[in-house]
Amino acid sequence: MKIEKIELYQRDLPYAGGVYRLSGGREYRSFDGSFVRVVTDDGIEGWGESTPFGSTYIAAHGLGARSGIAEIAPWLLGRDPRQVDRVNEAMDAALVGHNHAKSAIDLACWDVFGKSVGLPVCELLGGSTGDRLPMISSIYAGTPAEMRERVAQHREQGYLGHSIKIGALDAEGGPALDAERIAACLADRRPGEFFLADANGGLTPETGLRMLRMLPDGLDFVLEAPCRTWRETLSLRQRCPVPIVLDELVQHEDDLITMITRDAADGMGLKVSKVGGLTRGRRHRDIALASGVTVSVQDTVGSTIAFAAVAHLAATVPKHALRCVLDSRDMVSVETAAFDAPITDGGVLVPDRPGLGIDVHVEELGEPVEVWS
Ligand SMILES: [Mg+2]
Repeated sequence: MKIEKIELYQRDLPYAGGVYRLSGGREYRSFDGSFVRVVTDDGIEGWGESTPFGSTYIAAHGLGARSGIAEIAPWLLGRDPRQVDRVNEAMDAALVGHNHAKSAIDLACWDVFGKSVGLPVCELLGGSTGDRLPMISSIYAGTPAEMRERVAQHREQGYLGHSIKIGALDAEGGPALDAERIAACLADRRPGEFFLADANGGLTPETGLRMLRMLPDGLDFVLEAPCRTWRETLSLRQRCPVPIVLDELVQHEDDLITMITRDAADGMGLKVSKVGGLTRGRRHRDIALASGVTVSVQDTVGSTIAFAAVAHLAATVPKHALRCVLDSRDMVSVETAAFDAPITDGGVLVPDRPGLGIDVHVEELGEPVEVWS
């Protein structure tokens, strides 16, 4: 089997909730999505997506994803897409870094692989645990009362995890406001729910410690991505009584190894496009499992195609290590594919269909912006 054609599409994905706010005053209204269709010489097609969270989240952006794909795509024609590790070596040989560009192609190759053998991608990644995947909401920064209300709305929809965005600037209310936000969001906590207070790198050790001292005792949550740099994170870690989860700082395998060898955190946010796709996501998963690090499987953002990849990888993480799964479908107002995985009984199950199990709405993506064949 050989890759005969690679098509690249672009689609803006408006944020479904209006304006999304993160630490440091960052605001997002729409996300720039890149989509790849890989077509083989025997007519199988696979799809992938890479949608960075704007250009101010990590070193990734939509224009960069498409430039990276243009750099890589010509080198993949004629290769066997089922040899996913070899495809990744070819991508690394064509372009250093740029995980977010490689991710869309990698996903499309896994979709082809699954369809070619009639198995869901999760079975090829090690096998589904069969457990429902607990979904996590993404509660953007606002007033404590608003955030508490949005947690309640997501609870009604069946979400078991809640990612509360913190990291207020001093002018917005600083550590005192963040402490109020956490207390408000946890006020109605139900048994079995899991809370992450996610600063997206917006705290310093000083503001982080002040915030923690202002919280009531006994609140059950983890602190995610408190600081922007390793130095700050390691400093806070030594004095922090709350478990720490890392996200933005862990992009490459070497970052995860640094996190583990320096005991910088207890869990990680495994975002598929951030780590370069499912081939590398599988490796991050295994390193985390071997190290006793808990995992939340996510993507930076993304539509249904990205979510399908998240769900297949998450389906292979044993229950004791899987904290939650980000439902990126909930964050954008465009449905790029049908994917039969509704939230019921506290989570989703991946559909028992070959590949990623999606039917892409090609008409939503328009005409390809570039084609290689
Ligand atoms: Mg995060």
